[in-house]
Amino acid sequence: MDSERVDSVVIGAGAVGLAVARALALAGREVIVLEAEDAIGTHTSSRNSEVIHAGIYYARDALKARLCVAGRDMLYRYCPDHGVAHRRCGKLIVAATEAEEPVLARVAAAAAANGVDDLRLLDRADLHAMEPALRGTAALLSPSTGIVDSHGLMLAYQGDAEARGAMLAFNSPVEGGAICEDGIELAVGGAAPMRLVCRSVINSAGLGAPAVAASLAGFPAPHVPRQWLARGNYFTLSAAAPFRHLIYPVPEPGGLGVHLTLDLAGRGRFGPDVEWIETVDYSVDPARGKRFYDAIRTYWPDLPDGALEPGYAGIRPKLVPPGAPPQDFVIQGPAEHGVPGLVNLYGIESPGLTASPAIADLVAGLV
Ligand SMILES: Cc1cc2nc3c(=O)[nH]c(=O)nc-3n(C[C@H](O)[C@H](O)[C@H](O)COP(=O)(O)OP(=O)(O)OC[C@H]3O[C@@H](n4cnc5c(N)ncnc54)[C@H](O)[C@@H]3O)c2cc1C
Repeated sequence: MDSERVDSVVIGAGAVGLAVARALALAGREVIVLEAEDAIGTHTSSRNSEVIHAGIYYARDALKARLCVAGRDMLYRYCPDHGVAHRRCGKLIVAATEAEEPVLARVAAAAAANGVDDLRLLDRADLHAMEPALRGTAALLSPSTGIVDSHGLMLAYQGDAEARGAMLAFNSPVEGGAICEDGIELAVGGAAPMRLVCRSVINSAGLGAPAVAASLAGFPAPHVPRQWLARGNYFTLSAAAPFRHLIYPVPEPGGLGVHLTLDLAGRGRFGPDVEWIETVDYSVDPARGKRFYDAIRTYWPDLPDGALEPGYAGIRPKLVPPGAPPQDFVIQGPAEHGVPGLVNLYGIESPGLTASPAIADLVAGLV
């Protein structure tokens, strides 16, 4: 099979891949996006909470912190300009008991270190006035947390990229390749198999990113991280949610606790929880609902029996095993692995949707 020469290829048409394709196209680069599925955003980018995160919880100076805060501000400018539905609804982090209140102070300090300077501490009376159905002794209000239509955002990125000449190829899985003297060769399968020799490749394959990197002959194997899968299950509220804000308990070791997020129609969903799994499988076990009731009733005691229904699940691409401290995004360019023109994106879990425009600018700078 003959190979065709191209300038830049983005592997994966999720929110991050599309944001990168947009940034490269706006910079005047020729861009082809190769997507294994038959549509954009069928994996993690359509299986998340659609929250525009403020940047509260991440370790100081981590990529997650920097890119979340930058991406959040970019999204609040980009969405209104591009007709992407979103709402700055705000979020409450609730101490259910006085014993939990010191955690709020720690959260506020971590947020301030990340440049999130708009948190407000609410006492019991303020909290009750704001959300009468909640039980808590105090809370932090994050006014710059919001929600976004993730599919609308991806369509906007795609539209911008295509308007600048980018092309999307669906049903085009990258099945292997090689690092060559004159670029990076990719073997593309699917209905119309082809070989492409690319000046730049951005591996934004989400859960598939380590496998893609490992399939490139000549890529240094020690630079391919091991990946674990942590499914996040959601349970949806069958009736309207009696809340205007997103509601989070104080964070717990290993996660944010069972929290309530809202979609743009005001429907509530609880989750995601954390379930370590072996293979990509998006099914939700209804039996996990029992734990949701108990956790939610610590801050919403009136949650009616039978109000929750199994919803959907997304899978976090984890770079550390269960019990390990959180890992930052890994954005690996030529300076790290030594292959000119190649950028690998690993472990792009939350807040990857929020950070997507900032990740894209960073990556465009690397190639
Ligand atoms: C449960 C959960 C909740 C989350 N909630 C939030 C949130 O509220 N706010 C937030 O900011 N972030 C959130 N995130 C994180 C966010 O969803 C992700 O960071 C983001 O969607 C990742 O986008 P992506 O493009 O990297 O990956 P994906 O959307 O998974 O896209 C990768 C694409 O690559 C394609 N692909 C894979 N292998 C190949 C191959 N070999 N060849 C071609 N194509 C390939 C896949 O088909 C897929 O379309 C959440 C994540 C999870 C799991």
